[in-house]
Amino acid sequence: MYELKNFSEVMVKKALEEYLASNKIPCQCERCIADITAFALNRLPPRYYVSEKGEILTNYEAQLFPDRARVMTEVILATQIVAAAPSHDRN
Ligand SMILES: [Zn+2]
Repeated sequence: MYELKNFSEVMVKKALEEYLASNKIPCQCERCIADITAFALNRLPPRYYVSEKGEILTNYEAQLFPDRARVMTEVILATQIVAAAPSHDRN
């Protein structure tokens, strides 16, 4: 089975994980993580590819991604925007 994937989405999720590993944000709930991912992805061009179902991107392939620096920039911007105005009530 094959599936359509967006390389940008894979990279945004990776970049966000990396960022959260060393930076604190006010809320890391499922909603905020989804909002951050959506915000960053809306500002990046999609890069679709076909992968075999369940196939995981290797680090080597991730290194080849042309917009790595930009992805991290967008992820950082997105975390700041969402942290300043979360979609849910503050808890
Ligand atoms: Zn939240």
